[in-house]
Amino acid sequence: MTNLVGKPPAEIQRELAPYCDRPFRSRQVAHWIVQRHATSFDEMTNLPADLRRRLQRLFTIHDPELVESTASGDGARKFLFALDDGASVEGVAMPEDRKLTLCLSSQAGCALGCRFCVTGVLGAGRNLRPDEIVGQYRVMLQVSGGDSERVNIVFMGMGEPLLNTDHLGTALDVLGERVSPKRITVSTAGILPGIRWLAARERRPKLAISLNAPDQERRAEIMPISRRYPLDELMREVRSFPLERGRRVTFEYVLIRGFNDAAADASLLVRLLAGIPSKVNVIPLNEDPDHLAGWRPPEPETVDRFGRALAEAGLTVTVRWSRGRDVAAACGQLKGRRLRDVSIAPTHAGPS
Ligand code: SF4
Repeated sequence: MTNLVGKPPAEIQRELAPYCDRPFRSRQVAHWIVQRHATSFDEMTNLPADLRRRLQRLFTIHDPELVESTASGDGARKFLFALDDGASVEGVAMPEDRKLTLCLSSQAGCALGCRFCVTGVLGAGRNLRPDEIVGQYRVMLQVSGGDSERVNIVFMGMGEPLLNTDHLGTALDVLGERVSPKRITVSTAGILPGIRWLAARERRPKLAISLNAPDQERRAEIMPISRRYPLDELMREVRSFPLERGRRVTFEYVLIRGFNDAAADASLLVRLLAGIPSKVNVIPLNEDPDHLAGWRPPEPETVDRFGRALAEAGLTVTVRWSRGRDVAAACGQLKGRRLRDVSIAPTHAGPS
C-alpha cells in the first residue's frame, strides 16, 4: 500500500484523485496529513465515512515506529525509531523557552567516519526516505505535545543530509508546508556539491557547517571527508552561499581536550571566519568511552576560555554542553548503546 506520509500535497492529491469523486476531497486529505499531521483516516471527520473506508483499503499513513524515548534531566528527550527494514535512527527533541527544537536524522548511519562521532564509528547506513525523515518530525512533535508554529528543525542527527539530497529535498518541501525555511537548518560535514544544491533551492533552509578544527591538517585527521573537500575550498563555498537578510551561517565546533582547544586554535578560528556572518556553536565533546575511547572534553574552564576568546574577537558564540547528556543525546549514542547491549560490534574502528 502507498504511504502518504512524506509526500508533498500535490503528490497526495494526484495519488488520491482517481478514488475521490470531487477534487476538493483529495485536497482535504492532503491538508489533514501535511498540515494537521493526521495519523489515520478516522481523524478526517470532514470526509464521508465511505470515502475514508475506501482510502483506508488503498493507502497508509505510516510513521517510523517509536521503540524508545528517554527524557533527560535538562528537558531534552531522545527518540529511537525502528524502520521497516530493521534499521534504526535517532531523533532528539529539545524544548527551550516556548520553542521546541527537533533534531532529525537523514541516514541510518554515516559513512563519513568523523572520529569524534558515535554514528561515524558505528558505520555507514542507507539514505532515509522522505516518509522516514518527515515521520521523525511528526512523531516527536506529537509525543512532545509541541506546536508546529514554534518548532525549529535541525538536520544534525545521524547521517550526512547532503549525501541524501533527493529525499532531503522532498522532505524539506513537505516540512516547509508547516515550518518556515528560516526555522530549518541543514548541517553538513562539508559536501561541496550538496552545499551548491542547497544554495540553488528556492526556499532555502539555513546552513550549518560541522567544522571542528581550525586548519586543514587537523580537520582531515578527525574528518576524513576533508581530504576530498579541503577546508579552503569549503570556506570559499561558504563565503559564496546566498544569505537572506539577517541570516548567518552556523559553525559547529566540537571541542576536544588537547586537540583543538588551545588559545592559538581560537585565534585561527577567528581568522578563518573573518567577514562571514556567522555564529559559532562550541560543543564540548560528549564523552563515550565505549565508542570514542581516548577522546575527552576539555575542563569547563578551558571551554569558557575558548568561548570567551571567540566572543572577545567579535564572533557570536554559544557554548552548548550537549543537551541530554545523561541520555546519550549526541549523534548516534543511543543507538550505540543499544548495539552494545546486544553485543554487536561497531563497524568502524574507534579512535585510538
Ligand atoms: S559527525 Fe555527521 S558527518 Fe560526521 S560521522 Fe557523524 S553523522 Fe557522519
